[in-house]
Amino acid sequence: MSFRFRVFGLVLLVAVIAIGVTAWLSIRLTALQIAESQQTATRNEVATVREIREYAVRHGTWAGIDNLVRRLSNTNQQRIRLTNLYGQVTVDSDHLANRQARKVVAAPALIDPRPTLTFPQKLLSAADPERAKTGGGGRLEPVTASAIAQYRRTVLFARCLTNQYVQPPPVAPDEYGIPVANVHLADDHGCGEEAKASAAQDQQGDLAFISGCRSEDQPAPCLTRSFGERVATFTPEPLLLYLGAVADDATNLISRPGLIAGGGVLILVILGTAVIARHVSLPVRDLTAASRRLADGHLDTRVRSGGRDELGQLSDSFNRMAAALEASEQAQRRLVASVAHELRTPLSNLLGYLEALQDGLVAPSRELFASLHDEAELQRRILDDLQDLTLAEAGHLTYRRSVFDLADLVDIARVAHLAVAEAAGVRLTAETAGPLPVHADHDRLRQVLGNLIGNAIRYTDRGGHVSLRAFPDAGHITVEVRDTGCGIAPADVPFVFQRFWRADPARDRATGGSGLGLTIARQIVRDHAGDLTVESTLGEGSTFRFTLPRP
Ligand code: ADP
Repeated sequence: MSFRFRVFGLVLLVAVIAIGVTAWLSIRLTALQIAESQQTATRNEVATVREIREYAVRHGTWAGIDNLVRRLSNTNQQRIRLTNLYGQVTVDSDHLANRQARKVVAAPALIDPRPTLTFPQKLLSAADPERAKTGGGGRLEPVTASAIAQYRRTVLFARCLTNQYVQPPPVAPDEYGIPVANVHLADDHGCGEEAKASAAQDQQGDLAFISGCRSEDQPAPCLTRSFGERVATFTPEPLLLYLGAVADDATNLISRPGLIAGGGVLILVILGTAVIARHVSLPVRDLTAASRRLADGHLDTRVRSGGRDELGQLSDSFNRMAAALEASEQAQRRLVASVAHELRTPLSNLLGYLEALQDGLVAPSRELFASLHDEAELQRRILDDLQDLTLAEAGHLTYRRSVFDLADLVDIARVAHLAVAEAAGVRLTAETAGPLPVHADHDRLRQVLGNLIGNAIRYTDRGGHVSLRAFPDAGHITVEVRDTGCGIAPADVPFVFQRFWRADPARDRATGGSGLGLTIARQIVRDHAGDLTVESTLGEGSTFRFTLPRP
């Protein structure tokens, strides 16, 4: 699978999991909250049912229930809907709040305002079942009839007051469980009389209604049932109470708009992921293609360097690597060309003389053989120096380090070059502030000094002066080789340490220089944690200076 698809898949997976977990957590937390509020609602439901029922009992009618429903709905922050048993709405808090009624969710609770007639135990045991059988019903029948009359009076009285916008008095159950109102009020608005008259009117009917229980073995349950049926004709009808609405339910959290929004987010995530995957994979693809081109030998290949992030850094590293490879290859080419060039001249000389000897064009002589030997010697020196340089640059030149006095080495080098200096007519002096101990390879440093002194004598005219100085200097030991020679042109100074560089190639080669001496010298000094520098004025002389750390 391609890198791009893997990034795409990975980011998508992470995004989808994150969205899923977040959604799951939100739904779960909300569901928990709703469950909690539903528990509270259940507790409220019991109280609500009781209050609404008490209203009907006390007022004898459902008229005016709106105010109570509004108050309960506001107090409990709950949606309340009351319907009759046929589903006709009596009142709905949504309507009261001037909004469209939401769908109801929970099962309704029945609110039945009818009281239940209960006979006291002593009355039941006193009732004569035999008489009941023969049609008397004991004392239960008149009790039931008067309970119906009593309750009718309470209901009619309360309803009459309510119709006149008067708050009915509280009711309290009597010994049979029938709510009784105090109808003897100072100002009963004429309701007491009306209720009494109406109740008295229906008494015959009541007796006839309950007389059906005379044939029962157990008249008490039948009378209780008949009581309920009879009072149902004038009691407010039973209602169904619905609490809560569809929007409150946890299952509705995953609604259609929710699903559409979720789908939209998912599409956005997929598109975003595709863009990210493309954005991430583009530089990687560029890098892959560039690596292939580089491997095929196109060392000038570079990639667009983009940004400071890891991919930008990778692109920069790739470019640096490609540049280093290119530079190294160019250096290698230049080296091979230089070596070929350096060796061609002495070899051509050798071959020329050998052919001339073979053809008998020149006579063999001691001088000729000495000259040919010098040419061969120069080639060997070039090759030896090249080998040293290659080893040094690769860090493979072995150094045998020891602590010795650099002042001594300077003196030794001076003595060693005295004869050459004398022959060249150059004064060679040394000034050292010894002892100057260093931890270094004695022979390699002698090689460095030899190269610097040899050059100084070589490029100084007869009558000139080469002076050596060695002295301690701020944590270092410095050695100077100063001459009063021809000097180096300012434009050439930066090149003196380059391989095979010579200010005057023809003349310098004639003097037997390989053009590698300074390059090797500087490498050796640098391998000793020091440095080799030059200051020169054309026509006045040069000063080569190297420093080494103190041990
Ligand atoms: P070579 O073995 O040819 O001398 P080097 O690396 O030692 O090679 O020197 C490189 C070139 O630097 C020389 O060919 C010469 O042109 C120049 N050079 C080195 N030392 C001096 C000096 N003391 N004065 C003037 N030119 C110098």
